[in-house]
Amino acid sequence: MREVDYIIVGDGYAALFFAHQLIKAGKEFVLYSEGKKGASQVSAGIVNPVVLKKFTTFWLAQEQIDALKDTLTEIATYTGKNYLVEESIHRIFHDEKERELWLKKAQTEDLSPFLNIDFKSLDKVHNPFGAGKVNQSARLDVDRFFADMLSYLKEQGHLIEKRFDYSKLDAAKSTYAALVYRSIVFCEGMGVVNNPYFAQIPVVPNKGHHLKVILSTPLNNSYTLKKKHFLFPMNSESYYYGGTYDRHQLEDGTDDSATEELVKGLEELYPHAFEVEEVNFGFRPTVKDRRPILGSNILYPNLYVFNGLGARGILNGNYFAKTLVNHIEAGVPLPDEVNLKRFQP
Ligand SMILES: Cc1cc2nc3c(=O)[nH]c(=O)nc-3n(C[C@H](O)[C@H](O)[C@H](O)COP(=O)(O)OP(=O)(O)OC[C@H]3O[C@@H](n4cnc5c(N)ncnc54)[C@H](O)[C@@H]3O)c2cc1C
Repeated sequence: MREVDYIIVGDGYAALFFAHQLIKAGKEFVLYSEGKKGASQVSAGIVNPVVLKKFTTFWLAQEQIDALKDTLTEIATYTGKNYLVEESIHRIFHDEKERELWLKKAQTEDLSPFLNIDFKSLDKVHNPFGAGKVNQSARLDVDRFFADMLSYLKEQGHLIEKRFDYSKLDAAKSTYAALVYRSIVFCEGMGVVNNPYFAQIPVVPNKGHHLKVILSTPLNNSYTLKKKHFLFPMNSESYYYGGTYDRHQLEDGTDDSATEELVKGLEELYPHAFEVEEVNFGFRPTVKDRRPILGSNILYPNLYVFNGLGARGILNGNYFAKTLVNHIEAGVPLPDEVNLKRFQP
């Protein structure tokens, strides 16, 4: 039997940011990846401190941004690359009223660090009311982050490229197949519905699609543009446009209605020809109160769940991976806001 401190189940943001905490702490661990592209690998990678519909911010936004920068600097020491793309979001205003609202919100204590009031007029896209820049916003280079992190984990002997089979788990003895573990952290995203120990946690799937497109006239800069959806360059040829939100269509596979919504949105923003190269989709694990879920199984307290990252997988995943490792390793209580216990009678 091989002894490990941790088994991580999953390979999305929750799992990889948790793995980073274990690397930092010098723990012995393995990570199970079933090799499917989950929500994280189809995500846009946007790091954004502002809710762009109403121009509000959210709980711990500044702390989460600062913590992400620290983590990405730490990860760069072993993968050799910092995956943060320092290109900010430019929110294209729908009308004059939105500009005014932005100006008003920019004067509040919460929003003044984030809402830039030097409005811009952008070339090549339809923006008669101009655009406001979100300070401190950025993007993660999603493809490189996952490719490099997974190959680093493989090189170091942490990665097990197999589906975690719940029937091989003996929770009473803390063994899984030929492994003896101290703790398991389940980071399965919507895959949690198949987990007999945590299937009941209240995560709700929200399906999101994005398009990979080729623009006939490339944009002049690498900003992230946001009107209905996000548009930004992924590489020298392709652009990312997305994502949609849908709580009702939950079948596996792409939905024509989502593709149509995206094509229409892009046509409104970009008045030139474009070609759709790919349509991708994933399921965001969302929670009614918009807070992640961290906690352990009542019968087997060394089985933990880390889920419910919602639409902010990067910021939530990074920040709360540290919260969870501090809880498990140092007994630091979990904040009530994210504790699984908030849903238990
Ligand atoms: C279109 C779209 C755009 C998005 N854009 C952004 C964005 O710009 N910024 C942002 O912060 N967030 C974004 N999100 C949200 C973000 O993607 C999610 O919050 C995040 O991916 C959730 O991460 P996770 O690790 O919990 O789950 P997932 O990414 O779903 O990862 C779970 C993984 O676990 C694996 N797994 C499950 N069960 C098992 C098992 N038994 N054995 C082995 N492996 C298993 C699955 O295959 C899966 O790959 C977006 C989501 C979508 C759909």
